[in-house]
Amino acid sequence: MSKKKILIFTDLDGSLLDKETFKFDVIKDYLKELISSGILIIPNSSKTESELLDFNKQYNFDFSFISENGSSIYGLNKIDQSLPQRVVISRSIDEIQKIYDANISLDLKNKITPILELEIDEQQKIFGLPLNKLSLATKRMHSIPIQFRGTETEKNNFIKNIGEIGLTAQSGGRIINICDNTNKSKAMSKAVKLIRKKLGNECITIGVGDNENDIEMLKQTDYPCLVKNENFDSSLINIDNLIKSSEPSPLGWADVIKTAIQIIET
Ligand SMILES: [Mg+2]
Repeated sequence: MSKKKILIFTDLDGSLLDKETFKFDVIKDYLKELISSGILIIPNSSKTESELLDFNKQYNFDFSFISENGSSIYGLNKIDQSLPQRVVISRSIDEIQKIYDANISLDLKNKITPILELEIDEQQKIFGLPLNKLSLATKRMHSIPIQFRGTETEKNNFIKNIGEIGLTAQSGGRIINICDNTNKSKAMSKAVKLIRKKLGNECITIGVGDNENDIEMLKQTDYPCLVKNENFDSSLINIDNLIKSSEPSPLGWADVIKTAIQIIET
């Protein structure tokens, strides 16, 4: 293993976890090997802090992580005691809701389904989660999950509008999240800056994602990796040293990481 510290910033759904079952059993041993070798794995997800804490607990991990599309960073103190337990980057969901309510036209609002206002069974269908996990996914502190029912042009218009009022609309796998003016990339840069102050500059970053809301993050990493996603056209991505998998998650995750580590070590 190289002397340099490797940090893996990874998306979860569709990257590390199977996008339908959310499982990753086939690569669990490999993941544990990486952890034992001293590599730091930092999930960077649209999931909530509650979901990510539950993920840690369920699999006995102790990962620091970034939640709700770059809204906050949790657990950097596990990496170095003097680092903060929580870095909040985003404004609160109430503030975001207020800005949205006051500034988005009724015309556009009519094309939007706020998922948290739906019946529980409909929410379950959209998130693809069992009831006990749904309650964790809806505990949002910084983002409003929606579905957009309109044409592609209307959707792009909506995303532009959202940008003009200082927020962002971020497409993940199943939903769009209305967030503050932050994203996975900004939060990762913040985390890396804090970690580098403690561990020195000899940190190498690997980024793993499978979708549009991961691309900016991948661009900021030394070794950007894209896991195959049938619903995402990767030919439009312009990243020079992009490592792509031919398999979807979770096997594709192990493939790109193996390739990246091999390059780092040679
Ligand atoms: Mg994903």
